[in-house]
Amino acid sequence: MLAGLLDLALPAECAGCGAAGTGWCARCASGLATEPVAVRPRVAPGAPVWSAGVFAGPRRGAVIALKEHGRRDAAAPLAAALARMIAVLRQAGELDPPELAPLILVPAPSRASAARRRGGDPVARIARLATRTPPSGPASPGAPDRAVQALRLRAGARDSVGLGAGERQRNLAGRVALRRSAAARLEAVPVPGVVPRTPAVVFVDDVVTTGATAAESVRVLADAGVTVRAVLVLGHA
Ligand SMILES: [Zn+2]
Repeated sequence: MLAGLLDLALPAECAGCGAAGTGWCARCASGLATEPVAVRPRVAPGAPVWSAGVFAGPRRGAVIALKEHGRRDAAAPLAAALARMIAVLRQAGELDPPELAPLILVPAPSRASAARRRGGDPVARIARLATRTPPSGPASPGAPDRAVQALRLRAGARDSVGLGAGERQRNLAGRVALRRSAAARLEAVPVPGVVPRTPAVVFVDDVVTTGATAAESVRVLADAGVTVRAVLVLGHA
């Protein structure tokens, strides 16, 4: 009876590897705790691209569990990995330290229909959680400041699965749009008595393949006067 009740509250298997009786197993946790690697997708987004690692193992398992199987609990370890990646990049001087610039995470645009089907946008969820996740370990110069869902996909963009680099670029051309209501939130927040610090805007996606989504998103943000400092992804293909 008690076990039955606990099953309702706790996931029956690890979202990373499927191990039974655990929410997120220790092996998958250590598999996600890696150093960010610089990647060069075929379509260059015009900002440095950093990945948490090859899109495989617990990384891939957690993303698929979250996006395809509605395992919302899988967002937490992915958010922790993202927060850790930001902390490491700040320490390495690739991103400004928190005392110099707050960070704004802009999640990759998704189609409204897909987000509805999935009970919310998974990448936006990861970005939001990452802003509240203090990174673990000695390298922890603070969490990023906020996530702003500033981009959306206009109707007409197809799911990019199975498309080549050129097809992806054509599929996305003109389809990524800025949400007007969110644009103002990308600017410095005025605090009385404090010189406003221009935030560092970082684009976040679950996986980078050709780079077409990141490139189009960076371009749309640049058109709106927003410079993207880096592209962070949880895995690269
Ligand atoms: Zn596992």
